[in-house]
This record gives sequence, structure tokens and C-alpha cells, in this order.
Amino acid sequence: MPLPAPDLASAAPASALQLEQALQLLSQSGQAAPAGEPGSPAWLQAVIDGLVELSSRDALTGLANRRAFELALGREIDRVARSGEPALLLTLDIDHFKRVNDTWGHSAGDQVLRAVAGALVDSVRPMDLVARVGGEEFAIILPNCGSAFGGTVAERVRRRVERMPVATGPGQQITCTVSIGGAFAPQWVRSTAALWVERADQQLYLAKAQGRNLVRLEPTAVSVVSNEERRLLFETFQFQDHE
Ligand code: GH3
Ligand code: MG
Ligand code: MG
Repeated sequence: MPLPAPDLASAAPASALQLEQALQLLSQSGQAAPAGEPGSPAWLQAVIDGLVELSSRDALTGLANRRAFELALGREIDRVARSGEPALLLTLDIDHFKRVNDTWGHSAGDQVLRAVAGALVDSVRPMDLVARVGGEEFAIILPNCGSAFGGTVAERVRRRVERMPVATGPGQQITCTVSIGGAFAPQWVRSTAALWVERADQQLYLAKAQGRNLVRLEPTAVSVVSNEERRLLFETFQFQDHE
């Protein structure tokens, strides 16, 4: 559907209104008011920075949202392709979460989501990116994480969630578990974000099928390079040949 043409005659009041809405959004999100003299370049920059931050966060948990996750994953693939350093992607899904909502109510479910988000952040390094990528689905990008460390960290995450009681009301505590799948970035090979997520998800499906509350990581001994990854590698060489 084509966008309606802007009404130039009333452009000034409209932009003032949009700025007002932006400030309202920032204040609703709990961000501090932008610093500086309202209308000054520094103040406007602070408003823009606040909106950028808001657009990359999940409102319920404060984690990176799917959009921020996808951008970070793309950057990580570039970094791995450049440096050859290992990296691990974990995808996580809360087990039987529908039951939590059905038994304790949606707001208890929301509290569980927030608690799980906190447990994930507390289980990994500050350099790792934890994101909420769907309703009760999370992902963690772990740069510079090789196979010797990957299993340990994923298991630490799983156990931390399993042992965490979530207080959802007076005398009411819920526990939950997560299933975790993981795949390492193929070193030196340019991959795509979608392929990397797909490989981690395949392991997550295995963890679910094998009983839940489990970690399954793609074995690293076999370096599986898909046809699409082969094509990407080949195209990179072609590109270099023509330079
Ligand atoms: P499985 O172990 O196979 O993952 O089972 P599950 O019940 O976790 O999976 P399913 O995908 O059937 O259920 C996910 C539920 O998550 C259903 C949906 O209502 C709930 N959900 C999604 N987003 C939110 C949210 O923001 N808040 C709450 N409280 N629930 C949510
Ligand atoms: Mg799910
Ligand atoms: Mg689930």
C-alpha cells in the first residue's frame, strides 16, 4: 500500500508531535530524560540514542531483541571469517512453558520469562550477547568460545535455570527448565546467519525429542560445510580473483 503524501503545510506541528511521542516512549521505557538543553543538538542526539537503544531491546526482559540479535550474529560471522576464532551460538527454549501459563496465569509466565532472562545473563560473560528471539525462545552468541568451553557453559546455563525458584506470588514458587541446542561457527568459512541458527536449532530439536532439560551441541570433529556455505566461499574467491 503506498504511503500517504506528507502534509507539508502542517509539517512543523506534526514533527513536534512525533518528538513528543518519542519522549513519551523513552519515559515509559524507564530511560532517564535526555540530558542537555531541550532542542539543542546534544539533546536531540540523546533522544536519537535513546530511541536506538529502545529499538534493540525486548520490552519484557530488557534483553536484546530479535532485530539486535540478527545484527550481532551477522557481525560475529564476519569476525569469525576474518580472525578464524571459534564462536558458539546457543538457542534455548523453555520446556512446557504453555503449562506454566495455563496453570499459574500469563503474568506468572511473564515473571518466569524475566527470571530466565536474568539467569541467562548471569551465566555467561559480559562479552556474550543474550537475546529474546521469540515468545519463550532465547539465543546466546558466545564469541571466542571453542569446543573445550562450549559444553561447560551451556550446561552451566541449563543447571542455573533448573535450580532457580521463581517467586510468582505469596508462598508461590515455580521452577522451570530449558532445552538448549548449540552449533559452532565454521572457522574460515563465510556462513550465513540463517544457516548457523538452523544448525543450532537442529540440536535444540534433538534436546526436546530426547526428553527436554538437555544440552545438545553439534559435534565439532566433523566439519560440515553445506552447499550454500561452499557457494559463499567460492564466490569470495572469485571476488578476490577479479580485484
Ligand atoms: P515445549 O517444551 O515443546 O517447548 O513446549 P511449550 O509449551 O514451551 O511450547 P509452545 O510453543 O507450545 O508454548 C509456548 C508458549 O509460550 C505459548 C505462548 O502462550 C507462550 N508465550 C509466548 N510469549 C509469551 C509471553 O510474552 N508471555 C507469556 N506469559 N507467555 C508467552
Ligand atoms: Mg517455543
Ligand atoms: Mg517451549
